[in-house]
Amino acid sequence: MTDFGIKEALKTLGLKDINEGTSTGSNNFSNGELIESYSPVDGKLIGKVKATTKEDFEKMMDTATKAFKSFRNMPSPQRGEIVRQFGNKLRELKEPLGKLVSYEMGKSLQEGYGEVQEMIDICDFAVGLSRQLNGQVIPSERPGHIMREQWHPIGVVGIISAFNFPVAVWAWNTSLAWICGDVCVWKASEKAPLCSIACQNIIAGVLKDNNLPEGISCIINGDYKVGEMMTADTRIPLISATGSTRMGRIVGTTVAQRFGKSLLELGGNNAIIITPTADLKVVVPGAVFGAVGTCGQRCTSTRRLIIHESVYDKVRDAIVGAYKQIKIGNPLDETKHVGPLIDKDSVKTYLAAIEKAKAEGGNVLVEGGVLTGEGFESGCYVKPVIIEAENHFKIVQHETFAPILYLMKYSGEVENAIEKQNGVVQGLSSAIMTNEMKEAEKFLSYAGSDCGIANVNIGTSGAEIGGAFGGEKETGGGRESGSDAWKVYMRRQTNTVNYSDELPLAQGIKFDL
Ligand code: NAD
Repeated sequence: MTDFGIKEALKTLGLKDINEGTSTGSNNFSNGELIESYSPVDGKLIGKVKATTKEDFEKMMDTATKAFKSFRNMPSPQRGEIVRQFGNKLRELKEPLGKLVSYEMGKSLQEGYGEVQEMIDICDFAVGLSRQLNGQVIPSERPGHIMREQWHPIGVVGIISAFNFPVAVWAWNTSLAWICGDVCVWKASEKAPLCSIACQNIIAGVLKDNNLPEGISCIINGDYKVGEMMTADTRIPLISATGSTRMGRIVGTTVAQRFGKSLLELGGNNAIIITPTADLKVVVPGAVFGAVGTCGQRCTSTRRLIIHESVYDKVRDAIVGAYKQIKIGNPLDETKHVGPLIDKDSVKTYLAAIEKAKAEGGNVLVEGGVLTGEGFESGCYVKPVIIEAENHFKIVQHETFAPILYLMKYSGEVENAIEKQNGVVQGLSSAIMTNEMKEAEKFLSYAGSDCGIANVNIGTSGAEIGGAFGGEKETGGGRESGSDAWKVYMRRQTNTVNYSDELPLAQGIKFDL
């Protein structure tokens, strides 16, 4: 089988000593046991990475803390210049990095490139923002006084990321954190460690070219135990954690106990409401891409379709028909739509979820199953499934990270559909397909979708970097990427300056001596 240029990509990305435990130049904080990275694409060992020990972690924290003390003094537009150079390097390396993302994580090559493009986009956004970290001037109630609010760097930012966006989530956080004057420590998913080393190599080159300390960007490797070193550490004022709600519950509690800040980006259970006036030309690609893209392993993947009973049969048949066209296979082969799940544990979870849905009364419309034979040797390729189900089923309430789509009916007014859409514990992404203006506005109103993302006539997945990204309820409440998400990477300070010769107290309080 052709290797689709993977060897060459690994070489270009500077992934050396890949079988002895690759590490990252001078910034090597990993000397522990070996973590093996297998590709879900063909089941082959791609390379090994050394894990971070407690001793390595201490060394890293010293380096990061020291780097922060100098980096915070650099004017933010100059920090923006570093991010601009980083974005340009990503432009140069989009192809090899995109390929590595596709091979190590299993998403389609187009989505791998798309992920690197997101990194480039957020760099561009951050560069502009580096000249706009504006505070404000506030009128004081006291004569001869002025109040203002300003934003300062927060310190060392800890980033914990999930396997499914093995490079973009880091860039969403770091590019903003850097222009804010913070330094970053990244613990990537143990399921995609090579992607993080490739990214670190890229930024390390940029920092070196600019004579800046490499401690501005540190990576540590390993599983949750290494993550726990970060979450418990009072020297890290902000933890940005992306992953399951289970993980977020633990991380959020640990960080809160030490009065740290956390930015949580957790699981979703996203639905599209399909109303009587919805246009099938928009519904079908929106729903199908949302459900099967990245093999159902996006936090914003479409899990539920809530369809008006009057158009239910028509929509169901169109979606079922479209599923027949889906080509499953090697994601590096651009003729394929759907690649593998991340590993065999995910395959087990997928199979168990289908059984649970059946046991609760679900009606399977498109059968699932694990693919075997040539090209499917990794054992991670599964068929996307469609099941007619009810919203209250336990399994429907739960986020299964796999291509399982639940169809359900609503009757009457759009409010009934919105109630179903909101009737889950997660609150990440949501969409309505309608040509009826009143329905769209109701969906977007305060009585409408309770999610962090609410779309009209586009699906639930595929957000742009310009908007704040994140969700409510068990999705964790965090916002990153665009809009004013930068504020979480800074500490806010209110200043009151007295330029008079008196000392009047606030609220007219007298304190005469
Ligand atoms: P996961 O929760 O298993 O792991 C995520 C990261 O957390 C990994 O780096 C892991 O090592 C670390 N971790 C786990 N337990 C920890 C602990 N106790 N302390 C510190 N770190 C810990 O998630 P996953 O399987 O990699 O990713 C899939 C999940 O991520 C899905 O639920 C998906 O919805 C969610 N996700 C959410 C977003 C979002 O923006 N809302 C984006 C991507 C993925």
